[in-house]
Amino acid sequence: MAVRPSLRGAATYFRKLGPRSQVALCQLPLSLVVSILGLMTPLTWPSLLSSPVYLAGIMLHLLLFVACFVTPWERLRSSAYLVIPVLDLLAIGLLRNGAAPLLPGLAILVVFPVIWLAASGILVRANVVLSTVGPLLIMVPASAVHFPHLTAADLTTLVLFPLMMLAVFLAIRFASANMRVQQRELQALGEELRELLAESRDREKLLITILDATDVAIAAVDRSGRYLVTNNRQRTFRQATGVVDEMPGQGHQLIFGQDRQTMLPPDKRPINRAIAGESFADYLVWAGEEPAQRAYSTAARPLVGEDGQLTGAVVVYNDVTGWVETLAATEELISTVSHEFRTPLNAILGNVDLVLEDTAGLPPDATQRLTVVQRNSERLLALLADLSATASAALKVHPKRTDLASLVESTLNSARAEADRSGVRLAADIPSPLWAYADPLRIGQALDNLVSNAIKYSPDGGVVDISAGTSGNWVQLRVRDTGMGMRTDDAAKVFRRYFRTDSARKAAIPGAGLGLSITKMIVERHGGRVACASDQGKGSTFTVTLPADGPPPSF
Ligand code: ADP
Repeated sequence: MAVRPSLRGAATYFRKLGPRSQVALCQLPLSLVVSILGLMTPLTWPSLLSSPVYLAGIMLHLLLFVACFVTPWERLRSSAYLVIPVLDLLAIGLLRNGAAPLLPGLAILVVFPVIWLAASGILVRANVVLSTVGPLLIMVPASAVHFPHLTAADLTTLVLFPLMMLAVFLAIRFASANMRVQQRELQALGEELRELLAESRDREKLLITILDATDVAIAAVDRSGRYLVTNNRQRTFRQATGVVDEMPGQGHQLIFGQDRQTMLPPDKRPINRAIAGESFADYLVWAGEEPAQRAYSTAARPLVGEDGQLTGAVVVYNDVTGWVETLAATEELISTVSHEFRTPLNAILGNVDLVLEDTAGLPPDATQRLTVVQRNSERLLALLADLSATASAALKVHPKRTDLASLVESTLNSARAEADRSGVRLAADIPSPLWAYADPLRIGQALDNLVSNAIKYSPDGGVVDISAGTSGNWVQLRVRDTGMGMRTDDAAKVFRRYFRTDSARKAAIPGAGLGLSITKMIVERHGGRVACASDQGKGSTFTVTLPADGPPPSF
């Protein structure tokens, strides 16, 4: 049985009262009844005013009610207040016997002290005796006048009434014992809840301490974008973006794209992308304005509830300002150096070309040496072009409707001389026309790179084959060779800058490890992607995927 809130409220109120008010409150119902009886007596039963026993009963009640207030219960034993219900029994005895035979029913008032004695929960044995013997004694004087010729009514009153009061006592006792058990259970439950709450607070504190101790900014948000948990660094990010409120998705925010100037539209902000259900990593944004602008690499994972529904997201911000600035400085250095190298190199190459145009007057040995100078200068120039392209963060593409078949054809034409020298056969199977949304110059550059690699890394000759295919809105070009190939773990790294396989180094095949990173950059600027599958000793296949027509759909 649940204890109703109103009952619990009353119990709490009762406990808050002082001992005098508590005792008076228990006595109040009986005192009210007796007061009404006293007030009605002159009008209804005037003959009772001449009964000293009856009047003594009324007086005793009044005295007891006053005693409830004036007795310093707090200084007495905790069971001392039980003297009041015991004396109530006496007062009711006086009332009942003083008013007999006019008001025999007054005996029923005994039920008040009996309830009080039963509900007290202390001195149970003494109280059970009092609650039975008291009513019996109250009934004795009225029946004693018939002694020794007691009537059946006398016997019934003498036996039944005390038994009824005993039953009332026991019923109250059981009910209050039951309530006490429930109270104890509730207390235990409350205690358990308090412990759990304290434990969860401790855990939350620990979590926040750990989060604050980490180097990255972290925010957990609910579906509407309201912050659930954030750490100190995330608050720094927020301040940088000029956001102080709890709704990160809304309002004007100083979050910029990679060019550091274009403010990101709300749906491109990391948190809004995350609560739209996107999972991402390495999403670079700039927070705040110059000179305090900071670069953050952001990542997000959705939070999914037990029912599989999206409940929010966790977004992590890594301050990469130092790294981005170092990279920018390196790139600037590379592009300056390569630019400075190119001018004298062009002069060397130009002069060597001029000399080699007319070799009639030159000894054959000198011609041969000049050809070596020419070849190496050209290689150096190509390397410088690669270096400055890699360093150029602003590598721009201008895609338009382009026929890839004709691009493949011109790539094959330029590669043919080199292929012949290396004993490589070139083959192509491309439907013509093959339309794609591509920058012909840049994609031509990427294709040249893949085909020249395919020839370069086929030192024992073989076949380089270019094929094509379409899938949905995408066009695929495959450059396959039967050359030296590479290990699977190397195939996953070939697009990194300056990466070269051990076998390429050992075979002393010239290269700087930049061509494929440029190829990847070009393809990705088109919204496409490039992949490598390779088998050491058997050959490699590079696949370029480009949008077939129009700006790319997302993968
Ligand atoms: P480079 O060829 O100038 O070294 P790239 O970026 O074009 O630089 O290639 C990176 C590395 O990937 C190469 O050094 C080589 O080890 C490997 N590689 C590229 N293409 C092939 C290929 N077709 N077959 C085998 N290895 C290749």
